Amino acid sequence: ATPTALLVGTGRGSQLGILIGGPQVLEQTRGVDTIVLDKTGTVTTGEMTMRAVTSADAALDEDAVLRLAAAVEHGSEHPVARAVVRAAVARHLDVPTAEQFESTPGAGVQAVVDGDVVLVGGTRWLTSSWAIPVPDAVTAAITAAETDGGTAVVVARNGSVLGVVVVGDTVKPEAADAVARFVALGLHPVLLTGDNDGAARAVAAQVGIDEVHARATPAGKLDTVRGMQARGRSVAMVGDGVNDAAALAAADLGIAMGAGTDAAIAASDITVVSGRLTVVADAVRLSRATLGIIK
Ligand code: ADP
Ligand code: MG
Repeated sequence: ATPTALLVGTGRGSQLGILIGGPQVLEQTRGVDTIVLDKTGTVTTGEMTMRAVTSADAALDEDAVLRLAAAVEHGSEHPVARAVVRAAVARHLDVPTAEQFESTPGAGVQAVVDGDVVLVGGTRWLTSSWAIPVPDAVTAAITAAETDGGTAVVVARNGSVLGVVVVGDTVKPEAADAVARFVALGLHPVLLTGDNDGAARAVAAQVGIDEVHARATPAGKLDTVRGMQARGRSVAMVGDGVNDAAALAAADLGIAMGAGTDAAIAASDITVVSGRLTVVADAVRLSRATLGIIK
């Protein structure tokens, strides 16, 4: 895709707020039979809210856990991060400054806070990349939160688990309507996310999607798209994150949400400026209609 986008059609495309990478995109759109949707920021608003914070360390109260998590997450734009920071602000916590911030897309974030290495991320990342043991009670709390449709991240300091923060998603108001329109256009909808299975299934149920692929790393998202293509499917992928960029580029049609990251937009063929999912359906319909007129 070219970063310099051109507006589709004359009136309709620009009215809808769809930026198209080039005239070949119309042709790519025509054959698509599957639509893969990223969850966070694509099907959901991307404005997560904190549901709970718990301490797993007798020496720390939950505000102390939240304060450290917020210090690290301050450096991240991820929806989980924004929820954590907003919660700390709402509680009027004095959030320390973090240094040497680093982010691993689809996994977690790390920084040095008050001379300590603090990590916030998924259990898998803590155990596989950092070899940090997660106590059974913490694992049980995470499982319960995830079964409830929540997203749980673990806070660790200098190699030991301090606590858990649970955040929750809000589905975009138009998402169920958009999925119904994809189906009406003959597109098979699939939800693809780096988040856990419980959170993914809760969102899928709300919007009417049956096929769910959870716990996908950025490379896993790419593999999922390639696997579908290998089985003869022509795939449209809709996403907003750095973690979606490879999958967006590999898809037969990559669609970025306008509020998304530059990486997602650069990797895509179409950008939906408003980020409204129903506009994605309009874009597919409009492309097909335009081709019908041209040919
Ligand atoms: P999605 O595919 O739904 O957009 P991501 O791939 O961005 O989700 O994130 C997947 C998982 O990675 C999150 O559920 C979380 O466990 C972890 N993660 C990613 N970024 C962060 C962050 N800034 N803070 C804590 N955890 C994170
Ligand atoms: Mg996303």
